[in-house]
Amino acid sequence: MAQRVAVADGGNKKTTRVRVAVRLRPYMSKHDEKSEGPCVRGLDSQSLEIINWRNATESVKYQFDSFHGEETTQQEVFLTSVKPILSHVLNGQNASVFAYGPTGAGKTHTMLGSPEQPGVIPQAVREVFHLVKGKKEDEGWDYSIGMSYLEIYNEKVLDLLSPGSQDLPIREDKDKNILIPGLTHTTISSFSDFDKHFIPASLNRTTASTKLNQRSSRSHAILLIKVVRTRRTFPHRQQTGKLYLVDLAGSEDNRRTGNQGIRLKESGAINLSLFTLSKVVDSLNSGTAIRVPYRDSKLTRLLQDSLGGSAHSVMITNIAPEYKYYFDTFTALNFAAKSKLIVNKPFTRETVAVPMLPVKRARDELEGRGPDA
Ligand code: ADP
Ligand code: MG
Repeated sequence: MAQRVAVADGGNKKTTRVRVAVRLRPYMSKHDEKSEGPCVRGLDSQSLEIINWRNATESVKYQFDSFHGEETTQQEVFLTSVKPILSHVLNGQNASVFAYGPTGAGKTHTMLGSPEQPGVIPQAVREVFHLVKGKKEDEGWDYSIGMSYLEIYNEKVLDLLSPGSQDLPIREDKDKNILIPGLTHTTISSFSDFDKHFIPASLNRTTASTKLNQRSSRSHAILLIKVVRTRRTFPHRQQTGKLYLVDLAGSEDNRRTGNQGIRLKESGAINLSLFTLSKVVDSLNSGTAIRVPYRDSKLTRLLQDSLGGSAHSVMITNIAPEYKYYFDTFTALNFAAKSKLIVNKPFTRETVAVPMLPVKRARDELEGRGPDA
């Protein structure tokens, strides 16, 4: 097989921000033992207000790229916040969608949904297949789509497509692509093919989480959809775009909620990956070129090219309106307000086949440097 080298991306250096959406789920009286009513309400398609706990006659207002009120449908969330970034994945760029927020606020509903109300994941995968189908033969690319599905639990990376697998290592290749050797990667040919692999894996996760109680609220579920396109003619340019769809662990402070009286040690109480995610956001926003601590947790390491890197990212912060969630809602909104400032620089990941030339010379030539440069 011919060797492949990465091609410098001369074009697209446009920067994009992380898009931040907030979704408020409907008020549910079963979550409000004291019948206090809601403490958060939407104002318009971009802003909301939450009662100020210091002075209940005042409120604190927030503005985001989009605000999805309690009546928003699954389809509206998808169309406004997710669909616009998907086409980039067919062009060798990375994209990621995160659901963030406290347990019970609607992350899984937003990402997974139900058969009647499919969430972001099924809608996004359908759309990727739809976009590939819409590509014209004469554009000269062959597309292949594959999936991986993993969970980060207690800083262990577990393969959900291969139950019982061990903790997997995260690596970076010479072109700064993050990868997990040993992770199952399955080629999928259609949406129903995707479902065939995804549904049993999701069910595995759910069953395990009911047994282990808080597991699903303590772990991050990460679906990766990889689109590789290859030029039919020599030098067979190849571009790889990755789409991460992430249902994050609950953002509530386990020290404060005190989980059924179990005393949790400080160090064990915090989900390290989620904690590091907020440090990464802080450090990117401070702009002071200090080291961004991606390597401090598995989640941020894995998503290194999706936050402040080269990806199109969307953060959907899920919040609940009942008072019981008040402080967790505040924390989540403040985190979301910080995330807005991150700037990503999307670029295309491309390689070409080089049959005979020594690598350095080939790379120089591809990048337009003469053989003597
Ligand atoms: P999380 O994953 O953040 O812990 P869930 O997605 O499990 O939260 O949501 C908690 C409950 O609220 C579930 O019963 C879910 O069906 C319901 N729910 C969440 N968001 C919505 C929504 N937008 N509309 C209707 N029900 C919702
Ligand atoms: Mg959940």
